[in-house]
Amino acid sequence: MTDDNRLSSGHQIDHSEGQDHALRPKTLVDFIGQGVGRQNLEMFIKAARQRTEAMDHILLHGPPGLGKTTMAQIISSELGTGFRATSGPVIARAGDLASLLTNLAPNDVLFIDEIHRLNPAVEEVLYPAMEDFQLDLMIGEGPSARSVRIDLPPFTLVGATTRAGLLTTPLRDRFGIQMRMQFYTPEELSVILQAQARKLQMVMAQDGALEIARRARGTPRIAGRLLRRVRDIALVEGAETITADVADKALIRLDVDATGLDQMDRRYLRSLADNYGGGPVGVETLAAVLAEQRDMLEEVIEPYLMQTGLLMRTPRGRCLSKTGWDYLGLTPPPTAAIQLDLLSHQDEEDS
Ligand code: ADP
Repeated sequence: MTDDNRLSSGHQIDHSEGQDHALRPKTLVDFIGQGVGRQNLEMFIKAARQRTEAMDHILLHGPPGLGKTTMAQIISSELGTGFRATSGPVIARAGDLASLLTNLAPNDVLFIDEIHRLNPAVEEVLYPAMEDFQLDLMIGEGPSARSVRIDLPPFTLVGATTRAGLLTTPLRDRFGIQMRMQFYTPEELSVILQAQARKLQMVMAQDGALEIARRARGTPRIAGRLLRRVRDIALVEGAETITADVADKALIRLDVDATGLDQMDRRYLRSLADNYGGGPVGVETLAAVLAEQRDMLEEVIEPYLMQTGLLMRTPRGRCLSKTGWDYLGLTPPPTAAIQLDLLSHQDEEDS
């Protein structure tokens, strides 16, 4: 996790977002979006319930704020089992994992957020636990050390990661079900916003919801955050209904432009254009120039810029696309990557 605390960041930025708990959908029916992936999960959940067995392990991956934690909780409640949540960096030693696993009831869901940050020694212990529901632990040290095997109750591990590319192959292969979370369409976000507005007892016009949705970077967490800020501004300004006009004015004040980009995104794109003629340039260099962490660029800024077609990730580095140049209102120089046709080998893999 980074210390990124922008309004348009998919990461959770403060504890007031704990309000989210009340706003989170609780059932699969209320979970909007994620098309085929969600439908498939629904089938697998039904099958596990019919067999009264633990469901296969599930890996949810995608940028922050797209609903991985929410989906994990829904899986557990739809299965009618207990839910335990932790995160990769918190499980420091094999013993921590052992105490978590031995305290599970049969068929429970164990949710591990940021699973790519698991300590390798803990990961080794997790393999037999996932595969055979057995724990192999070393007790003691030196010549008196001995290995003990503990049988575990069957459980479902739901792992979440923003960086599937950083997962080791043996760990990734042990997840029978893998789901890539997609960005949401403005229409889907608008339905989510309407539901949240009802829970917050706000009066919101349909066009108001759509206006916020269009600028929420395809991310429900950002949509919810913008909604609360727009609500504050509307309240102070005496606007009773959130219309498109009210939302637009509030979002301009919050420095979120018509495409949902904020100052940080614009700095990123401008730096690419002004300092590197539109690229290609390596992410490390960009991180240094912008004084940001590489992780933050890769997890938060770049996915959305790529999704909107402003940025391209190539094996040689990051490049501004034609749309990116247009967005900045600039004409690409003759040496720009797009003019030289350097963008044909796009690499979508996590680097
Ligand atoms: P992640 O774990 O991927 O970072 P979360 O599950 O914490 O994301 O989701 C962030 C917030 O967005 C949640 O509090 C929830 O209110 C909202 N949310 C996410 N996905 C959906 C969805 N499909 N429908 C409705 N609300 C959603």
